[in-house]
Amino acid sequence: MTQTIVIAEMNNNAVHPSTAELVSAAKTFGGEPTLVVPCTDASHASGAQGMGAGSIIAAKSAAFTHYDASAWATALDAVVPQGTIITSASPQSKDMAARLAARRNIAVVQDAVSIEGSNITSPVYSGKAMQTVAATGPVVISVRSNVFAAATGGAGDVTVIDTDGDVATSVQEFMARASERLDVSEANIVISGGRGMGSPENFAHLEAVADTIGAAVGASRAAVDTWEAIPHAMQVGQTGKTVNPNLYIAVGISGAIQHLAGMRSSKYIVAINKDADAPIFQHADYGIVATWEEALPVLHESLKGMMG
Ligand SMILES: Cc1cc2nc3c(=O)[nH]c(=O)nc-3n(C[C@H](O)[C@H](O)[C@H](O)COP(=O)(O)OP(=O)(O)OC[C@H]3O[C@@H](n4cnc5c(N)ncnc54)[C@H](O)[C@@H]3O)c2cc1C
Repeated sequence: MTQTIVIAEMNNNAVHPSTAELVSAAKTFGGEPTLVVPCTDASHASGAQGMGAGSIIAAKSAAFTHYDASAWATALDAVVPQGTIITSASPQSKDMAARLAARRNIAVVQDAVSIEGSNITSPVYSGKAMQTVAATGPVVISVRSNVFAAATGGAGDVTVIDTDGDVATSVQEFMARASERLDVSEANIVISGGRGMGSPENFAHLEAVADTIGAAVGASRAAVDTWEAIPHAMQVGQTGKTVNPNLYIAVGISGAIQHLAGMRSSKYIVAINKDADAPIFQHADYGIVATWEEALPVLHESLKGMMG
């Protein structure tokens, strides 16, 4: 049995709760995983306590101020023990997973949705098929969220290791488009709009529903490509983000294979589309054949009633 190491998913200097799911994934290999927290201040690692790890390492470096693929992989490689490495399947962590695997000359398996013994299963061909590979040695695995239950308990003590990792470059400043909204890849509920929304201004109707039920707002590529006001960060699909929420509501989205690639593994899918033959209905658990102008106000009112 090789040692397993989890790299914590970080969000604004805090350990993201999905890290506890990664610890559960690591435990399927047996043993007590080591949880490595990339941070600029060791106190950030305290959020990793109670997430089920056998030991916690705060990997402290100025390089972790802003994400930079090369710098993070270099700094982490200097600290992470040898063994099988588990990361989140967020775009950033998948990038880092591949770089760590390359640095260590071991295999990488992205987007794992199941781990049984040494068999790791992940979707391929935009989610049209599943592949299972058997790990015969150390491997780097990125694991999708909402697949494993969160681990609890475990180590309380944090070992601090300073790492420079001989980083040659690092990002000094990160200028993001200001947004108060939840990111689609982190949300438990996502409501997405497509070209059928008619204009970017109409996304305000999706935002109103999202605010009522605590959802993130996503978009199809057609919406992102057509309207400058809809940023690529909202795009769900093959060339956008992969989401795995408990509930995905698709509004005015036809259900092209490239969109399905990013959301078909959602637990429940609700589609609102005026065309009864829209392909999205073949993948929806609940379908409403109506225009969004008809359906959304009714849905919003009843959700408001339910939320009290
Ligand atoms: C290489 C490649 C990568 C791609 N990657 C992605 C990706 O990551 N994500 C993605 O989404 N797409 C992606 N696409 C594009 C994809 O093929 C589709 O073109 C796109 O998903 C269509 O978006 P849509 O459903 O919003 O638009 P449309 O296909 O135009 O569908 C609009 C839908 O809205 C419905 N509608 C219209 N008016 C209303 C109304 N008033 N009320 C209710 N419904 C209404 C229509 O019936 C229709 O079904 C990719 C394509 C390629 C080739």
